[in-house]
Amino acid sequence: MPEPTTAPEGSAPVERSAARPYDADVIVVGAGPAGSSAAYHLATAGLDVLLLEKTAFPREKVCGDGLTPRAVKELIGMGIDTSPEAGWLHNQGLRIVGGGHHLQLPWPDLASFPPYGLVRTRYDFDEILARAAQKAGARLHERTNVTGPVLDRAGRITGVTARTTNEDGTRGPERTLTAPLVLAADGNSSRLSLAMGLRRREDRPMGVAVRTYYTSPRHDDDWLESWLELWTADESGKQSLLPGYGWIFGVGDGTVNVGLGILNTSTAFQHVDYKDLLKRWLDQTPAEWGFRDENMTQPVRGAALPMGFNRQPHYSRGMLLIGDAGGMVNPFNGEGIAYAMESGRIAADVVAQALARETPDARERALTAYPATLKDVYGGYYTLGRVFVKLIGDPRVMQYATKYGLPRPTLMRFTLKMLANLTDPSGGDAMDRVINGLSKVAPAA
Ligand SMILES: Cc1cc2nc3c(=O)[nH]c(=O)nc-3n(C[C@H](O)[C@H](O)[C@H](O)COP(=O)(O)OP(=O)(O)OC[C@H]3O[C@@H](n4cnc5c(N)ncnc54)[C@H](O)[C@@H]3O)c2cc1C
Repeated sequence: MPEPTTAPEGSAPVERSAARPYDADVIVVGAGPAGSSAAYHLATAGLDVLLLEKTAFPREKVCGDGLTPRAVKELIGMGIDTSPEAGWLHNQGLRIVGGGHHLQLPWPDLASFPPYGLVRTRYDFDEILARAAQKAGARLHERTNVTGPVLDRAGRITGVTARTTNEDGTRGPERTLTAPLVLAADGNSSRLSLAMGLRRREDRPMGVAVRTYYTSPRHDDDWLESWLELWTADESGKQSLLPGYGWIFGVGDGTVNVGLGILNTSTAFQHVDYKDLLKRWLDQTPAEWGFRDENMTQPVRGAALPMGFNRQPHYSRGMLLIGDAGGMVNPFNGEGIAYAMESGRIAADVVAQALARETPDARERALTAYPATLKDVYGGYYTLGRVFVKLIGDPRVMQYATKYGLPRPTLMRFTLKMLANLTDPSGGDAMDRVINGLSKVAPAA
């Protein structure tokens, strides 16, 4: 049995007894969209959840702040009010700019997803989710940095060590917190996974994205806008089209989130100066939009996008990986929030079922449902995504697709459904059937 422990400052006292030897039923490490959504669903299922977050809310997080109907569905499922009155900027679809074309594609009309997307900065988005988890009963500890796993003799995780930073910046002592199951929701670099020996797979696509904010008259645009033409020049001066896109997402508060993301499948990837690329692209946009240095409200900052299940297995030795920690960003469009929230919900459901089983063997069997469900839900689609990112890594393919694809509205409606993973699983239209069929026949990632 683990050592008795004390909870971090400011938390409810932990009661321990022979019947309840752990500090919690589940520990969730990281209160980003994955961790907070998992904690919400675990608490709603009646489990005692400790949600540990190294920062304090509200806090900034480098992101594009764009939410597709997939993410909206998850927010609604957590009982979050997504109305404009509650501060959300609604959008009706995607505007694509490239090859001399402007195309507006409304979000598809589906039974399975709401017909609108949203924009909200991560500054308060993440706090809204964390507070929803807290309201559902999860015990959230902010300023609590998880420093490593606690293992039993068999190498199974039975808790974590954590260090709390006080409000005045001084650090508290390292403590041990225990639970039979731990969810790693600590983002792309997932130090907890690394400490458990789970490294990043190099054979999966990876993106890099940078973003900043400008004050702009375009702040209340109710379309998400993406620009497909990001050009770079090699040493000889030869121009080539990069696999990726630039985005312009109005935030609704007088500012616009502008950024770009590039995939690692092109030869140019290693040599791209992202800040320079962003500046060169924005210098071509009309001056009245305001995307010039004097209107910039935040520095250009970037981070990696871990795609197509780049860290596996998603369950091993008492630990489940959710969100970016498990490499769940969609390779087709770089969207990560919806997949973080969905994997948090799926993991919570599996954990609730497993903890209700009587014997350790039965629990372990139930937990294998988590990687299996992820493979069922996303495996084939992510494999198609890998093929897609490989193809567009060739500048000629990207150029061809932009030039000949964009003028064809039906093809582009199909492309939007494919890239945003928005179909009805049954009873959908012919496009849905083609996409679902392809995802089913592709081997799981
Ligand atoms: C520039 C950029 C633009 C993007 N734009 C979009 C977009 O528009 N839409 C979209 O859907 N996705 C976008 N993404 C992807 C999206 O940001 C991620 O996929 C998403 O944040 C993943 O959520 P997560 O909860 O898994 O991880 P994170 O959001 O990274 O959350 C991890 C949490 O864990 C905490 N943590 C880390 N280590 C510890 C520790 N040791 N102890 C305690 N806590 C810890 C962190 O503080 C953080 O709160 C973008 C990414 C980038 C880089």
